[in-house]
Amino acid sequence: MTDKYAVIGNPVEHSKSPEIHAAFARQTRQDISYERVLAPIDTEDGFSKTVDRLIAQGYKGANVTVPFKYSAFLKTSKRDTPRAEFARAINTLSFCNGEISGDNTDGVGLVTDISKNLGFDIKGKKVLLVGAGGAAFGVLGPLREQSPMQLIISNRTFAKAEEAAKILAPLAKLRADDTEVLAKCFEELNGCSFDLVINATSSSLNDELPAIPDSVFAPGALAYDMMYGRETPFMKFARTHGAQVADGLGMLVEQAAEAFFIWRGVRPDTAPVIAQLRSA
Ligand code: NDP
Repeated sequence: MTDKYAVIGNPVEHSKSPEIHAAFARQTRQDISYERVLAPIDTEDGFSKTVDRLIAQGYKGANVTVPFKYSAFLKTSKRDTPRAEFARAINTLSFCNGEISGDNTDGVGLVTDISKNLGFDIKGKKVLLVGAGGAAFGVLGPLREQSPMQLIISNRTFAKAEEAAKILAPLAKLRADDTEVLAKCFEELNGCSFDLVINATSSSLNDELPAIPDSVFAPGALAYDMMYGRETPFMKFARTHGAQVADGLGMLVEQAAEAFFIWRGVRPDTAPVIAQLRSA
């Protein structure tokens, strides 16, 4: 029997997840269906009721996108990994024997794209994470676990960057490395340079650039924008100042591959799927 999955969001019609999971299923010969589900945002329990309906209809799991990742965190009775606890956001739900468990695969998606697909080793490097919204929180734990020399979190609203840095403090005790984790406001970045600069803000959606100084790009730095689909102002800015640039398409496919693995126990080959989406 075909196992049913979905992506829940609002809006959700733009989501590429159905194409990605269909490609994974063809490649690995898994018998699944995967559709877009729009959950209402005008009622407090719209997301929760949507999840309950999917479970009643026999769905095995669902991905969760904007703006429901925190609602999904609250809806789960069990989080599969510490990375989901750090993120306080869930993008992958599994429904099994009446239990709703959840994970966050965004961070592993980002790290896999940077390290495997782009060949950039984060260990020992100076990393700047710009932004402290849902996407930034989602990648904090997995980024820190790569043992960079420095992980600086910077955000327009400084208090949120401070909160993000604070969340990582327990990891310092668990890991035998000396990664420096600090929050800095944009002005404090003047004169600082980094090997990897990640734009985790939503500024690119409005064709805007976060107000970071051009000093942030060390010679040969990698500048990564989580946004995908077009050259963003951040990517143009980084290229002009000597950085190599990458968009977030690889992250999107890699986070989906991790979700597919959680559900099906099979790891799809992501390279042909990334290539297929790029050519489209
Ligand atoms: P949120 O709304 O949760 O957070 C928005 C963040 O962007 C905040 O830190 C906000 O700062 C900052 N911001 C917005 N506009 C500006 C601006 N003009 N200048 C500086 N900072 C700004 O969004 P998400 O975290 O959910 O999403 C962020 C991005 O990540 C989106 O582009 C999304 O598409 C992308 N994404 C990509 C994924 C992928 O798989 N490739 C997965 C998930 C997200 P402040 O706190 O001051 O308001």
